[in-house]
Amino acid sequence: MTTPTLYNYGSINIDHVYRVPHLVKPGETLSSTDYQQVLGGKGANQSVAAARAGGQVAHWGQLNAGDQWALDVLDEAGVDTQGVARVDTPSGHALIQVDDAGENSIVLFGGANQSIDHDFIATRLAKVERDDWVLLQNECSHTAGMIEAAHARGLKVAFNPAPMTRDVTEMALDTLSILFVNRGEGAMLAGLDDNADPDTVLSTLAQRYPDTEIILTLGADGVYHQKGKQSLFAPAEQVDARDTTAAGDTFIGYFMAARLEGKDVSTCLKHATRAAAYSVQRAGAHTSIPRACDLEQP
Ligand code: ATP
Repeated sequence: MTTPTLYNYGSINIDHVYRVPHLVKPGETLSSTDYQQVLGGKGANQSVAAARAGGQVAHWGQLNAGDQWALDVLDEAGVDTQGVARVDTPSGHALIQVDDAGENSIVLFGGANQSIDHDFIATRLAKVERDDWVLLQNECSHTAGMIEAAHARGLKVAFNPAPMTRDVTEMALDTLSILFVNRGEGAMLAGLDDNADPDTVLSTLAQRYPDTEIILTLGADGVYHQKGKQSLFAPAEQVDARDTTAAGDTFIGYFMAARLEGKDVSTCLKHATRAAAYSVQRAGAHTSIPRACDLEQP
């Protein structure tokens, strides 16, 4: 039997990262002491993570035709980018200020990620086999439409509703095979306040979506997996965290790659936890995501 493919319908962002002595104030003009342009976006990060974990990954998305370098990063990680459309619209991008204390502020522009039309979905879904998976986050247009269309084709769908928006509650979440949420997303989806305890969040979501695997990540406090009344917990690895950017994306990519290989839940959680712990010890987004060989025991 061939290993299934993960089709990731996700954002591709260009992150412009400016180092500044302090975050710019209203009306102020401030010189940046350093500038970097890097690939970002939850979609792109999750594709990179799943491919570096050894999964067969095809990315579906859209970016400006002039930003081929961003696709080269995905290609180099082993992601199939044939399903990415090159358009005239500016690519999705983020203007990120990081100050000397490590604080940041971000202006996000959806750009090409947000101008994907409905035909795009139909054309791509037509090529997918029954055993394949579709993964999505909440940074592209027609997210709800993709969930419905993929389910109607009998595919397994995994969804990470990040960033969380009000309309997520109206999406067909009961049709999902897997729902990945962090603490804040889980609480908001369950209709609870931000510091609701994880047990209440989980039991609320599991009751509402009994056929869906709910994966609730809690940063350094580990992760819960729940399906119906069955629950599992995996602690996070005790490490010296330096930069948690893309920890969640690394976790999701690795979990999905293990799932494609048919691994059981606790093995998927173990691989994902290990990879995310590696990423938090390193700076950056896709640059901090490990390859499978980086995680082998010495
Ligand atoms: P982000 O938005 O920063 O990418 P997230 O909020 O989506 O992350 P988290 O719940 O913070 O997701 O983290 C996902 C997983 O990463 C956790 O379940 C854990 O395995 C790992 N992780 C996160 N922070 C730490 C940490 N400080 N130490 C060890 N592992 C961590």
